[in-house]
Amino acid sequence: MMVLMDAAATAKQVQDVLECIEAHGMQTLRLPGDEHVAIGIPSAIPPELREPLTQKLTALPGVDHVVQISRPYKLASREFRRQDTVIKIKGVEIGGQRCVVMAGPCSVESRNQIMEAAETVKRAGARILRGGAYKPRTSPYAFQGLGAEGLDLLKEAGEAHGLLTITEVMSPDDVPLVASHADILQIGARNMQNYALLIAAGKSGHPVMLKRGPSASLDEFLLAAEYLLFHGTDSVMLCERGVHPLDRTYTRNTLDLNAVPALKQMSHLPVIVDPSHGTGVARYVPAMARAGLAAGADGLMIEVHPRPREALSDGAQSLTPEQFANAMAELGRIAEAIGRSV
Ligand code: PEP
Ligand code: MN
Repeated sequence: MMVLMDAAATAKQVQDVLECIEAHGMQTLRLPGDEHVAIGIPSAIPPELREPLTQKLTALPGVDHVVQISRPYKLASREFRRQDTVIKIKGVEIGGQRCVVMAGPCSVESRNQIMEAAETVKRAGARILRGGAYKPRTSPYAFQGLGAEGLDLLKEAGEAHGLLTITEVMSPDDVPLVASHADILQIGARNMQNYALLIAAGKSGHPVMLKRGPSASLDEFLLAAEYLLFHGTDSVMLCERGVHPLDRTYTRNTLDLNAVPALKQMSHLPVIVDPSHGTGVARYVPAMARAGLAAGADGLMIEVHPRPREALSDGAQSLTPEQFANAMAELGRIAEAIGRSV
């Protein structure tokens, strides 16, 4: 159960609600929210108390309404907020009618490479530039990213081409630096349940895109998002990027498109689909990007490299600028068919 206070509720009114709940022997949890103060009741409520307690709390001054939240996650749930969350960053809306495309190389490799990538993705209609500076690589011998230098280059390229930027942060200690360089923090699939990182990213208040772990259930995914919301950011995007496949012969992961309508039902947060990591194969990316939009995604993340064969990471799944421009034209037609735009 959760009590949502009026936007204008006083501190005394909030206190009275807390005391009323505690007088019934139950714990309270103050949840931050952008519009209202919300008070959660994490303890189990005896069934016979549910109705009288709801009535009593609803009647208290300063209470807007009381909602029953059956899900383990609260702030991330559709029960907590019925309307879709629309994240606004420097004039770009994520979660609104217009779908957003984030595109760029897996890794920032050089000034030339990220500048070229930015120019081509911008021209094709992307509004957010991606590029990893801190790379989570399976092998310690693989390219690890340019680190702080990569952040500078990504920022420069984004500013030069009027694109927002997104990049991965892997360590809680790096959150302030990454947040000062990029518009959106990316928390990678491998770190979805790195709670220290989730807490630090949440506390920064910066927009975050959380990628689903390759073996995570949707409840686990949304509970990870709950950490971000609980610790202070209200701008969280969920990214489906493929789960462990049954068969790695043809694809790297299995893009779980069921997750798109399911997450949209379970949560009010925008959903992004990443067909690049979801397939691992450039030639399959456009089809799965189209499918992602058709399934109801609010945006896409697509890897694009000026010369995929020279890429230092994920070249096999990266589109050339030309392939990306073609894919964008097709995405425009899918979006139109479902009453959206790209
Ligand atoms: C990436 O976006 O380059 C990346 C490493 O993604 P994921 O965390 O989904 O593997
Ligand atoms: Mn990648």
